[in-house]
Amino acid sequence: MIEFMKPLSLYYHVPFCARKCAYCDFASYPGREGEMRQYFDRLLTEIRRWSVLTDFGLLSDRFYVKTVFIGGGTPTLVDASCIGEILDHSRFIASFADDIEITVEGNPGTLTPEKLAVYRRAGVNRLSLGAQSFDDCLLKFLGRIHNAAQIGEAVRMAREAGFENLNLDLMYALPGQSMAQWRDTLDAAIALDVPHISAYSLIVEDGTPMAARVASGEVILPDDDTVNAMQREAIERLSKAGYGRYEISNYAKPGFECRHNLTYWQRGDYLGLGCAAHSMLDNCRFHNPDSLDEYLAGARMMDFQRLNDSDILEETVMLGTRMSQGIDLSLFKNVDNRRLDRLVASGLIELDNGYLRLTTRGMELQNAVILELLEVLGC
Ligand code: SF4
Repeated sequence: MIEFMKPLSLYYHVPFCARKCAYCDFASYPGREGEMRQYFDRLLTEIRRWSVLTDFGLLSDRFYVKTVFIGGGTPTLVDASCIGEILDHSRFIASFADDIEITVEGNPGTLTPEKLAVYRRAGVNRLSLGAQSFDDCLLKFLGRIHNAAQIGEAVRMAREAGFENLNLDLMYALPGQSMAQWRDTLDAAIALDVPHISAYSLIVEDGTPMAARVASGEVILPDDDTVNAMQREAIERLSKAGYGRYEISNYAKPGFECRHNLTYWQRGDYLGLGCAAHSMLDNCRFHNPDSLDEYLAGARMMDFQRLNDSDILEETVMLGTRMSQGIDLSLFKNVDNRRLDRLVASGLIELDNGYLRLTTRGMELQNAVILELLEVLGC
């Protein structure tokens, strides 16, 4: 039966954090821990609403759940039983695939063996840890609540609890970060032998304390050449250690690619629950309010947008070019082949078996290349 159904990914947002990091503009609300129970009750109500659709066969007859991602915020800050509660109720939205991937995102400073044991019992089989750096000075500068030693400790505890599928998030292009510090962080992550590593360049978001420090000249961002050199260092070191770069910022040992994130990049169906969570079902986008207060007050999904053919092609280019697999050229009927050949000759893209992908250089110039591609592919 399941082979006739479409895969669905579920995302749950947990907006609580112990402290706001200096660079963070995610929907996270330090100091509101007293409202956790209220939040999870509201989340369960939202799950029940979707489950009612299932009673009429609207979701369960068409979808099975392929992946669940509980992100934030800091999901590992909250009572672990809340995570179990969410997962128990999720089964009423649609049935779970036998090989379902269930990820909890966490901060190394908030993990305990007890919490990890509860996650395992609830069916969680992947942990994604926000390590960011193995340099204590940089961690302090970023406003992280953990130190480098706690990252190794968190990985050890996770393994002891039975987790094999582990990710570490790392950040580079930080103000004042030397290439040597970045290499040390990469090497420390590789030494822990986790099967997945994400390496993100710092993006300074408006309104964050980091943006204010950059604007005042107190800290200086690295130039583009330094950022590209750090990215190339990651590609080289991780590739030597057996990690394949399957997305612009994501590297995995074979078979450990994050299936949940692939849903986003491959434009699969996903349903986001909790404040600030976004969804796409049958090419219709919508989202919940960003504000925790509005969500708790009962505000529902908003900004429904039905994508037309042109929107879909545009998204296919924007998201598909992030992946090393690239995009299927047969989807595009109005390709300007002369301009396409010029992009190949300039070393920015490559064509392989009907697929188009960005080269390493193309990924460095991703925004400009995508703008050009949108025209070249007739989007
Ligand atoms: S832990 Fe993550 S979500 Fe929370 S403040 Fe830091 S960066 Fe933001």
